[in-house]
Amino acid sequence: MTDCVFCKIAEGQIPASTVYEDEDCVAFMDIGQVNPGHVLVAAKRHAQDLYALDDAQAAAVARGVARVARAIRAAFAPEGLSVYQANGAAAGQTVFHYHVHLVPRFANDGMRFTWPVQNPPREVLEEHAARIRAALGL
Ligand SMILES: [Zn+2]
Repeated sequence: MTDCVFCKIAEGQIPASTVYEDEDCVAFMDIGQVNPGHVLVAAKRHAQDLYALDDAQAAAVARGVARVARAIRAAFAPEGLSVYQANGAAAGQTVFHYHVHLVPRFANDGMRFTWPVQNPPREVLEEHAARIRAALGL
């Protein structure tokens, strides 16, 4: 799937503000940042959706999600963290590659997100990514 932007990020073909990576998943911030500290955790191997993951890959992605979630909590001290996955065009997706969103929630947030949103400048993304990497001990 050479034209899949998430595969390109996983393969290092596109520069990204990566916060975590292991052999099965990669976590990065180069998405519409709903809130500071918003991270997307994607399976490294191209899988269109949750149904396409085998058990080992699903467990590996869940492990990456949990690790990054703890780091977001340590780095941004949000009141809460929304964890969601949304697949398909009906969910407003434009990239069909399995991923999970981790969105820090703060006290003044409403119940809904506006989507899509703009990313902050690269230097802001990088500063936020560095805070999460530091919380992960990376
Ligand atoms: Zn892909």
